[in-house]
Amino acid sequence: MEKTTKKRIQKTIIKEHETNPWNNAIIQLEKAATSISLDKNVLNILKHPVRVLITSFPVRMDDGRIEVFKGFRVQHNMARGPCKGGIRFAPDVDLDEVKALAAWMTWKTAVVNIPYGGAKGGVVCDPTLLSENEKKHLTRRYTYSIINMIGPNQDIPAPDMNTNPEIMAIMMDTYSMIRGYTQLSVVTGKPVELGGSLGRTEATGRGVFITMEEALRQQNLRCCDGIKIAIQGFGNVGSNFANIAYQRGGRIIAVTDLYGGVYDPDGINIPHLLEYTSKSQYHSIKGYSDANELEKHEIFALPVDVLAPCATQNQINVSNADDISAKLIVEGANGPTTPKADEILVEKGIEVIPDILANAGGVTVSYFEWVQGLQSFFWNETQVNNALKEILVRSFHEVNQVKTKYNVDTLRSAAMCLALKRVAHAINLRGIFP
Ligand code: GLU
Repeated sequence: MEKTTKKRIQKTIIKEHETNPWNNAIIQLEKAATSISLDKNVLNILKHPVRVLITSFPVRMDDGRIEVFKGFRVQHNMARGPCKGGIRFAPDVDLDEVKALAAWMTWKTAVVNIPYGGAKGGVVCDPTLLSENEKKHLTRRYTYSIINMIGPNQDIPAPDMNTNPEIMAIMMDTYSMIRGYTQLSVVTGKPVELGGSLGRTEATGRGVFITMEEALRQQNLRCCDGIKIAIQGFGNVGSNFANIAYQRGGRIIAVTDLYGGVYDPDGINIPHLLEYTSKSQYHSIKGYSDANELEKHEIFALPVDVLAPCATQNQINVSNADDISAKLIVEGANGPTTPKADEILVEKGIEVIPDILANAGGVTVSYFEWVQGLQSFFWNETQVNNALKEILVRSFHEVNQVKTKYNVDTLRSAAMCLALKRVAHAINLRGIFP
């Protein structure tokens, strides 16, 4: 074999290893386990998801063809309560990704101390190639395939990448039809008219903002006058974070999405950009003419105060971590930074507010929605937003206290230590059945 080919293959293997989310979830888990001297048996339990379901199911397409789709639902751990976590539709979603995302949900719900375990689901599909009708059929058949795993006391799905309140309404309806009664609290992130919570749609982005504000305050910076922000990803999380930060005086100088990027050193007018994307193909920012065009990869090296990766996993890795000059990274996405990149960021002195804290606003308001549905008693938006802020601010400070207590190098490790302590304590209190 030629030397260059050999080198390329080696590089691919290293990259695949670096970017396997399940490997990364295990690396993070082991690191925190060492820091808190976690019992080996408990660690072993947490290295394995409790339940994994892989399903293939047929869907009749608009043209009469029948296509077979593959789906997953993984329950990582349920020591602290019913499993909780979103469902993503993506062409490249696989079991290792869903396992990692489920584990991150276990840690996330523990960090903010809401009474859940962690789960995640996914369907391998390209939503841009599906009609609305096909998406509905796919959602119904997928829900039917996982129906024995889910339930308000068992496992409560929610939106994630490429899923939304309308999809949650179909999931709720499918579950309710099979059971024979309406069960609102089987999923969260539903439309408000159908048992959804006010504030849920914005909640993840709002949480990213709240944790950023706390971190800046800690550095004696006032949020957000003059704070320069770059946002990778303009879906639910990125766009709501951008909007809230903009309303609060933040200067969003760059935004990218799957299709392109825009840049304006004086700050992008976010309400205008949102209006543009609401009408553009795939709701993309591409072609927005009131700012300069930016190559997607350029977002990482921009001279900003805050970089917010709000797209997907592995975006900050060995290939670009060294270029980052932001002072603070706030992770709106799940798993956007690889452990190898984390090491580089520590050396560079860049603080990272980890996903399991920074993007926990979504699941926190999901918890409020679940409670409201179970009680059939609904809150106003101020109550929701105040309760969210209280939980996230408290959690931010608890994570910082743990960082000092265990003398760990990053907020990620601290958040993991806090989560692990809580989950391990629940496992120990419950004991091993039978
Ligand atoms: N998919 C979101 C997350 O990753 C929300 C999960 C939920 O609300 O259950 O946190």
